[in-house]
Formats: sequence, structure tokens, C-alpha cells
Amino acid sequence: MEGATAFQTAARIVSERVAQRPVVVVSAMAGFTDALLGSVKDASTVGAADSLATLDKHFDRHLRVIESLLSRQAPRLRELVAQSRADITELLKVVEAEGGLSHGRRKAIEDAVVSNGERLSSALLAAVLLENDHSARDVDARRCLITDYNHGSAAPLMDQTIRNTRKQLQPLLDSATIPVLGGFIGSTVAGETTTLGRGGSDYSAAIFGAALECKEIQIWTDVPGVLTADPRLVPEAHTVPQLSFEEAAELAYFGAKVLHPKTLQPAIERSIPVRICSSRNPIGGSTLVTATTEKSSAGVKAIAHKTGVTTVQITAARMLGAYGFLRKLFEVFDEHRTAVDVVTTSEVSVSLSLDDTTSLPAIVDDLKQLGSVSVEEGRAILCVVGEGLRSTPGIAARVFSTINDINVSLISQGASRINLTFAIEEARVREAVKRLHDEFFERELRGQSLAYALEREEQAEA
Ligand code: ASP
Ligand code: MG
Repeated sequence: MEGATAFQTAARIVSERVAQRPVVVVSAMAGFTDALLGSVKDASTVGAADSLATLDKHFDRHLRVIESLLSRQAPRLRELVAQSRADITELLKVVEAEGGLSHGRRKAIEDAVVSNGERLSSALLAAVLLENDHSARDVDARRCLITDYNHGSAAPLMDQTIRNTRKQLQPLLDSATIPVLGGFIGSTVAGETTTLGRGGSDYSAAIFGAALECKEIQIWTDVPGVLTADPRLVPEAHTVPQLSFEEAAELAYFGAKVLHPKTLQPAIERSIPVRICSSRNPIGGSTLVTATTEKSSAGVKAIAHKTGVTTVQITAARMLGAYGFLRKLFEVFDEHRTAVDVVTTSEVSVSLSLDDTTSLPAIVDDLKQLGSVSVEEGRAILCVVGEGLRSTPGIAARVFSTINDINVSLISQGASRINLTFAIEEARVREAVKRLHDEFFERELRGQSLAYALEREEQAEA
């Protein structure tokens, strides 16, 4: 959704839930965060004036929302947009003047610039609610969410955040006023603006939800909850109605983009249910993520996958019975700052998967000191997830017999035993996901409708 429609939809979703005393957390308008980050990057090369010019179409988008949805509030909001533009100009001038900014200083300026996206959104949505006769208040999230100094990817300091959030928001809630806050942004104890990392507004919502011990944290996105598989591969994919925190976390790690693993953390710690709803279809399906879940009949809840994976295998006879080998091996990845995904080991070999191959040649050189190394590119990781995997016998056999003509490597079940993860050739990922989806979701459904039809026939005969 774009512009005024997005704000109208958000306002409607909030107004239909006034009785539940909502606290609202919003993101920047689509594409604005990218543009703001780009402007900081450009300022040192093309100068502040030119890089500001690239933002004007985004300020105009905000102004158009104001024109079409606001009347009483319009002058004040126009003023806010102008103020935001002026603040950004000053910051971009600093970048231009100080060309060779230190990394830390640049990151701090980036956060200050980029925070304007969320701040304008919360001001706008609060105004739209006010014009619709709801008592709403724009609250500066930076007074609530206190973080460490790690600009660009700051971590919340929970004690201070809980204290501040309650102090700022409880009086509003007590007087039936809806607080509207920007997600993604916070501040250090010294009052410097920080951000939680890209996509962080859901994380903010979970942090505020935890701080206020809310009954439920709802994430409104443009997809209909968590799906049984990627709908680009499997058009028959459908919304998973319920997931456990563990299942959702596994899916989040494996590329189900709706939920960032960090988002769930505050909710898990306090057992607060998280509901993922679709703003495109508010009465359609949603996924509820809770501490426990009923086993789904198939034992499998969803199939996630990730392409562009490289696998590396290190074989060394001297690993047999030796200690310290794995430490040395992982030190190599540590030195090259490369994250490792799936790991499996045998007595004499270790296989692992990587997303980021920027340092791969150097990594391979170092690994060769430890044993023989082989690399396979163009792999995909598939991950079949469900609490039922822990308790239902035969699921692994069903998975592998469904794709028995596809070569599988790097099989891992993980400590939680609720996922079965393995690598296959990237070119066959569509086929594999489709076949597994058919086996675990569609066949079951076809079986049910057949049984239903038979039942109807029997009734007709009776
Ligand atoms: N606006 C921020 C981003 O684009 C945060 C978010 O949308 O969650 O990353
Ligand atoms: Mg977002």
C-alpha cells in the first residue's frame, strides 16, 4: 500500500481496536529509509544540496498525505515536514564539510537522519487518528527506547526502556489516549539518536509490548501471516494459523522474511503471543505465535528455503580422536568475519553452509592448513519445520522419499528437533519445495475432501 491509502488503512485498523487500548508503532513510508540512507552516503561526494534534492519527492509524498487526509492538523504537519527537511539539511552539511568522517560519527549522523522517516510517520498517523476524532498522541520513541551506543544496530537496554516506556505511555493509556510511536528508533542514555537495524520497527513493537506487558503483539504487514511455503514457488501455499515460538524462530532464520528472529525475543521472554496479520486483508488469515501450540495433523507446519548458499567440506584424518580441531576450524571463519549457517560433522570431516562468500578464497586458503577442502556453489537450504517432527515417527522418511531422486547433503536436525534441514542443488529447489508441499499439505487436504464427499454420498443414500 502506498501513501494516503496506507495511512487510512492503518488508522482504520487502529480505530477498530480502540477497546483493546492499543499502543501503535509505525515504520517509515515505503522506500524512505533507503532514500535517507542514500542521502548521507551521497552528501560527501555530491554535496548536501544535491543529495537533499533526492529526498524532495519523499517529502512531497508526505505533503500529499497531509493534503488528502488532514484539514485542522494540516498546517502543523506541513510545518513538521519542513522542520524535518531543515534538520536533515544541517546534518548533510556536516557530512559534506567533514568529508572523511570517522566510522562512528558517520553512523551516528546516519541514525539521526534516518530517524526522520519513522518520526514523520508517527506524527502523521497520530494526526489522522485525531482528525477521525480519536484521542491519539504522537510520542517520541526515543524517550522510551533506550539503547547502547552501537549506531545502526543498537541493542535495547531493557531496564531503562521498561521504566521510560511505562512512564511515558501509562498516563496516556489511563486517559484512553492512543500513543503512536515510531519503530526502529531509540536513543542512548546521553540522548543521541540510535536505530535497531533494518526492519527494526517490528522489533520495537515487541519491545514496547513487553515493557507494557501487553496481551498481544500484532504485526501488520502486507503478507497474510506466515505461509506454509514461499508462494512464488508454491501458489497453493496457505497461512499457518498457529506456530510455537520455536517453530517461528526456525522459520525466521531460514528466510521466512515476515519475522526477524530478534523480534520474537522480547515476546518469548515474557510469553506474550505475537500475531502476524495482513493489512491488505485485515479479516483474512493471520498467524498466531505462542509459547505452545497444538501439533498439526501432518506434523509439519511449513517449508522454508534459502538459495544462493555455498557449502564447504573439510576432511582431515587427524581430526579423528583429536581435540581443538573444531576450534581451529571456526577460528578461520571468525578471523574472516563470516557467519556459518548449518554445520554437520562426522569423525573425519566437517560440512558447513555459508551465505556470504566475500572472503571465501581467503577462508579456503586458511582451511587448507587443516585438511582437504572442497567447495560447492549454487546450493539451496531447505528447512521443514514442525513441533510434530519431535514426536511423530516417519516424517524424516517421508521427507526424503518424496524427493528421493534429488541429491541431498548436509542433513541436520538441530537441537530443538523441530526442524529437518538439508542442502540440495539450487536448480531443483522449486521442484523439491513443491513436492514436499504437496506431500505434507495438499495430499492431506485432498484426502479430507474425498472423505467429505464420500460421507455426503453415504448420507444421500441413507
Ligand atoms: N524503516 C526501517 C527500515 O526500512 C525500519 C522498518 O521498516 O522496520 O528498515
Ligand atoms: Mg518496515
